[in-house]
Amino acid sequence: MNLQGFYSCFLKNEYFHKTFNQNSILKTLSAETTYPFLKAKGEMAQLMRDYDWSQTSVGAPEHWPLSLRTALGILLHSKFPMFLFWGDDLICFYNDAFRPSLGNEGKHPWALGKKGQEVWAEIWPTIKPWIDHVLTTREAIWMEDQLVPFYRNGRIEDIYWTFSYSFLPDENGNAGGLFVTCAETTEKVSTISQLKESNEQLHFAIEATELGTWDLDPVTHVFRANSRLKEWFGFGANEEIVLSKAIECIAEADRQKVVDAIENALHYESGGHYDIDYTVINRLTKNERRVRAKGKACFNENKVAYRFNGTLQDVTTQYLADEKIREEEKRFRNTVQQVPVGITILKGADFVAEMANEAYLQLIDKNESEFIGRPLFESLPEVRGAVEGPLSQVLATGIAFYGTEFPAIINRFGRKETAYFNFVYKPLKEEDGSVSGVIVVANEVTSLVEAKYRLAESEKQFRNLIMQSPIAMAIFGKENMIIEMANKEMIEHMWRKKEKDVLGKPLLEVFPELETQKFPGILKQVYQTAKPYREKEAVAYINGEDGLRRFYLDYEYSPLVGSDNAVNGIMVTVSDVTEKVEARKKIEEAEERARMTAESGELGTYEVNLLTNEWITTPRLAAIFGVDYPAPRSLLIDAIHPDDKELRQEAYEKAYHTGLLEYESRVIYKDGSTHWIRLKGRIYFDDNGKPVRQMGIAQDITEQKLFEEELARQVKERTIELESKNKELERSNANLEEFAHAASHDLKEPVRKIHFFTDRLKTQLENRLDKDELQTFDRIEVSTQRMSTLIDDLLAYSHVSQKLLEKEEINLNDKLRKVLDDLELDIQQKHALIHVGELPVIKGYRRQIQQLFQNLLSNGLKYSKPNTPPEITITSTIVEGKDVPVFLNEDEVQKNYYCIEVKDKGIGFEQQEAERIFLMFQRLHGRSEYPGTGIGLSIAKKVVENHGGKIVARGEPEVGATFSIYFPVE
Ligand code: ADP
Repeated sequence: MNLQGFYSCFLKNEYFHKTFNQNSILKTLSAETTYPFLKAKGEMAQLMRDYDWSQTSVGAPEHWPLSLRTALGILLHSKFPMFLFWGDDLICFYNDAFRPSLGNEGKHPWALGKKGQEVWAEIWPTIKPWIDHVLTTREAIWMEDQLVPFYRNGRIEDIYWTFSYSFLPDENGNAGGLFVTCAETTEKVSTISQLKESNEQLHFAIEATELGTWDLDPVTHVFRANSRLKEWFGFGANEEIVLSKAIECIAEADRQKVVDAIENALHYESGGHYDIDYTVINRLTKNERRVRAKGKACFNENKVAYRFNGTLQDVTTQYLADEKIREEEKRFRNTVQQVPVGITILKGADFVAEMANEAYLQLIDKNESEFIGRPLFESLPEVRGAVEGPLSQVLATGIAFYGTEFPAIINRFGRKETAYFNFVYKPLKEEDGSVSGVIVVANEVTSLVEAKYRLAESEKQFRNLIMQSPIAMAIFGKENMIIEMANKEMIEHMWRKKEKDVLGKPLLEVFPELETQKFPGILKQVYQTAKPYREKEAVAYINGEDGLRRFYLDYEYSPLVGSDNAVNGIMVTVSDVTEKVEARKKIEEAEERARMTAESGELGTYEVNLLTNEWITTPRLAAIFGVDYPAPRSLLIDAIHPDDKELRQEAYEKAYHTGLLEYESRVIYKDGSTHWIRLKGRIYFDDNGKPVRQMGIAQDITEQKLFEEELARQVKERTIELESKNKELERSNANLEEFAHAASHDLKEPVRKIHFFTDRLKTQLENRLDKDELQTFDRIEVSTQRMSTLIDDLLAYSHVSQKLLEKEEINLNDKLRKVLDDLELDIQQKHALIHVGELPVIKGYRRQIQQLFQNLLSNGLKYSKPNTPPEITITSTIVEGKDVPVFLNEDEVQKNYYCIEVKDKGIGFEQQEAERIFLMFQRLHGRSEYPGTGIGLSIAKKVVENHGGKIVARGEPEVGATFSIYFPVE
């Protein structure tokens, strides 16, 4: 470049243009000697101005050629280090920017104005040829990072330069000097060498750490890599790798991830960072290798990546190990996720949620992104008050903290709620023992707590229920069978104790008698197993005020199980079934007795369930029916004689109404023989009147039947016999009566004659008869008299037996009066008392009735006590047939009767003689004391019977006799 060119170059520089326009420089050169080109600010400008140039080969500045001045002007105004050699001596000039390169305690400021060879003596051999080259060829040279060691800072330093030597012509266009633009690159070179060194170290490290290196050209997508990396991917050492090919070697699962990561790194906004793990599959060997790729992209000023390089580390071993850990961790997380309790791990003083399982997130009604990775109190500010204290404490002390039914107000489902938790805060300890966080295991028990409240409420109700129950109930406590509560029914009726004597006391203290019974054992079992126990009709002996009593009890022990599944107590329900059981036992015993009786009586028994037709029977029953045992019921029915089947059917129909089954029928045995059975049964009905059960007995009555038949036959025979005898008797009776009548009638005349002639003979012989003879006459007289009486009586009897005339109405009062008139003499003599009540009017036979009263009253007067006047009472009442104290047939019993009683207070008789005295000639008393024939009462009875009535005598010795006559009221 010539000066003009160089100069015009400067002129184009804006800065220069402002400061040194061509005109001003020219003006300065021409008019002034103050070297305006040296007017620049700075140390070197000052030094140059002050320098005595005249002593140098360039001479005073005013003589300096224009090119030198121009060059110096540039030099002094430049901030770039510049140096100038001028003239044959190569006098040295330099600017402020160059000055630091000369160091302290070195060439500055001495070098200014000195000869080049002098200043750069130590490097002259190096640079002189370059200077000569430029001066001779006029071509600039460029040297980069050239080591030019020279003296500065008190020593020779290795200094590197990047510089150019440019040719400066003088006014004549000959070589004037050299313009040196230079920059010390010592630092750069040392950096480069350091870089190189560190590069080497890096290489070494890469080698040592077995890293793969890569360098991607983001434009061409060509990939450079060290041999190791190539080997991993399965590329040849000299093969050019295109990114897409390398990507193909990445495991399918990771591929997209890598592509994305690369793309991301190549975006300026990402900062160029690239750090990713993936699996490489060797193209040739298919070996898998897990690598970690790290890299960085470099961007130009347009934010376009121009380079992207990094390393690849084989982390297979670690990966596999990690894989295992990850699997473990996954398993752990899965487990944690699946456990039904909420788990979260809070780390650090801020309690940042590191993880939380699904259950925990549900508890707090948050999703993972709202909770994980955030400080606890940021996501759940509402729980701070409740949990910060305990959490911090765990973090500080490393001691776990447990909470039960811990209330916390949390926001969920869109509102604030009080929730209850059981939880544990466990310190999360690092290997060095420090506590880095807290593991929270929380289990929401809100519903449980609420249920507990409800439970308490329902427990109250439950207790009320027990207390008011009409069934005996009690609750025994958890231990020792303490009687916690018992209702009135239990205390008063079952236990027969006072409330204060039982409540709060152990069962066995209150009822020591239970000690030897099974109940304490059963209770213990219920406490242990929590299974309810019930029993029916258990026998219990309980002591009460009335002593040890046996009870039959239906009872139940129900365990009261708490939320912790432990038995907190036992509810006892008892119902006293003693009466029922005893009654049933009695029935059972009776049944048993009946069965035994039946069996001993050769009876066959059976029982039929009428609903199922099942039947239970005895071998004996089968035998009675002539079938083999066991036999179905139908077989027995078949055995019944065809002619008797209807009879059986009728008996059943009747039994379904009355409940009583009874029939006798014939059965035909297999051998064709006929037997008689008697069947008696009872049908039982349910509450709806439906027949459900039949029980019965059967008896073989063949013999009895035969006997009966025989008996009937005999009876029939006898009856016929008897009937003919009866008729005979009746006939002979009639004959007898006729005879008696005829005889007495016929005897009456001779007896009267005996009496008459005896009396006459006695009168004729009176004076001649001695005392004995007279007595004999008297005896004849008495006997005749007696005979006469007998004949009278017999006649009377025969009269009443005779065929009767028509009945007529008789007023008994009149009749009685007549009789009393007839007996008046006797009554007077004996001073007898006669009481007569009002008597009825009846229909009858007049004479017979008179005879009846005559006989009864004369007996009453006769059988009086000696020296005691007789007292006779005659009364009449009306009675019903059923009140008549003798047998009456069906017709008779329907009637009403006049009961006429003749009662005396005489000597009476033994009651056992009461019937005998009505028989003819039967007498109880001596004839000498009480004369009579024994016919009177026979007549009385006959008279009463002739009137369709009855007569009954009652007597008691020394008290009297009563004769009751019952006349039907017609
Ligand atoms: P008799 O002529 O002997 O009185 P009756 O047939 O009248 O015969 O009585 C039978 C017997 O019944 C009597 O001999 C007497 O022993 C007893 N007898 C009858 N009437 C009475 C009476 N009122 N008190 C006690 N004994 C009586």
